Amino acid sequence: MNYYSLNRKSPNVDFKTAVIKGIAPDRGLYFPERITPLDPDFFKNISDTSNVDIAFESIKQFVEGEIPDHKLYEIVEDTLCFNFPLVKLNDDIFSLELYHGPTMAFKDVGARFMARCLGYFNKEGNNVTVLVATSGDTGGAVASGFYKVPGVNVVILYPKGKVSELQEKQLTTFGENIQALEVNGSFDDCQEMVKSAFLDADFNKALSLTSANSINVARWLPQLFYYVFAFKQMGATQKISYSVPSGNFGNICAGMVAQKIGLPVQHFIAANNSNDVVTRYLSTQNYAPKQAIPTISNAMDVGAPSNFIRVQELHNNSFSQLENNLKSYSFSDEDTIDAIKELFTDFNYISDPHGAIGFLGCKNYLKEFKGGKTIFLETAHPLKFLEVIEDALKIKLELPNDVQTLIKKEKNAVEINDYEEFKAYMLRG
Ligand SMILES: *Cc1c(COP(=O)(O)O)cnc(C)c1O
Repeated sequence: MNYYSLNRKSPNVDFKTAVIKGIAPDRGLYFPERITPLDPDFFKNISDTSNVDIAFESIKQFVEGEIPDHKLYEIVEDTLCFNFPLVKLNDDIFSLELYHGPTMAFKDVGARFMARCLGYFNKEGNNVTVLVATSGDTGGAVASGFYKVPGVNVVILYPKGKVSELQEKQLTTFGENIQALEVNGSFDDCQEMVKSAFLDADFNKALSLTSANSINVARWLPQLFYYVFAFKQMGATQKISYSVPSGNFGNICAGMVAQKIGLPVQHFIAANNSNDVVTRYLSTQNYAPKQAIPTISNAMDVGAPSNFIRVQELHNNSFSQLENNLKSYSFSDEDTIDAIKELFTDFNYISDPHGAIGFLGCKNYLKEFKGGKTIFLETAHPLKFLEVIEDALKIKLELPNDVQTLIKKEKNAVEINDYEEFKAYMLRG
């Protein structure tokens, strides 16, 4: 499968190059040349299909010709080392729990898949440096997914003081081929530094860089599995709407790829915190990215969602097509806390702040559109937001042993104030 740059000023490349380069030379995101619907029987018979077979069939066309089938099957099997349970809250609202992976974040799937693809492509042992900006969860998932992958060094940039304690420990305690940089700034600043590094001739002379943000196709595409897994667990019922807590819009955009390969979807619901650039766009047709606002759902504190351009491409850059498929709502921190309480009181369900926003997305959607089933994606384990949850619910959460051990580990990060310092660190030789 070939990929083109959404800026359309760079040559098309194969999957391998798209994974190794991360972003096109013209700074565009890579996008698959074709998306072909699967045989409708695949979705009809899905109840009898294992998760690994579902994932293999749905990702195959995007990798075709570059990783042999038996190897791809192994990669998928190894990626999916955990479960994706669907929890029923009432007749209309379900929670798809994506946090049962090694770092308790849904990003484990994308990170594990990408690490294994890169490991395969890198078998000659060339050194690759993976640069990744994180607003919280990406860093840990990438650190864990890439830990000890031969020939791959990982550098993680995170905004100082803006990730939770557990998140910080997850990305600063691996050692070996994983290095964390603590940036005095916002997530958008981290993301900007990563983007600039890719365009910097000095960087490119010294290092072979790639990115592990959802701009990388190997991190982005495997997220489409969740939607198909949910469909299977719903008994292949039609008319499901998916409410996706969204920041960079990689996850929801992968869901839209699932729809393109034939998954029946009623609507997508982008559930946002106060960073509401897409919600405003859908009501005003004016796309106005801005500085990120810090919230308690910090993995969604994104003012300029990098995957939105892919969302638009999937809808042929037509506002009316997009508007027909995507609904979007934004919620304040106060709304989020209220939702955490409501989920606990009414459904005896403990959610994290991101999932709570997903739940609010379902509620608002059901009020506006009446009818249908909704699933919200519960994207992080509540333990990752311990203080918020304990404060809201006035309860104490049990920390599992492995989390207690992790919290006690010593943080190891280098502080960075600006791009020049970042560059000096990376090129220190
Ligand atoms: C990354 C993340 C999101 C946002 O996902 P995007 O693909 O960036 O839209 C939501 N919730 C949690 C917990 C996350 O880590």
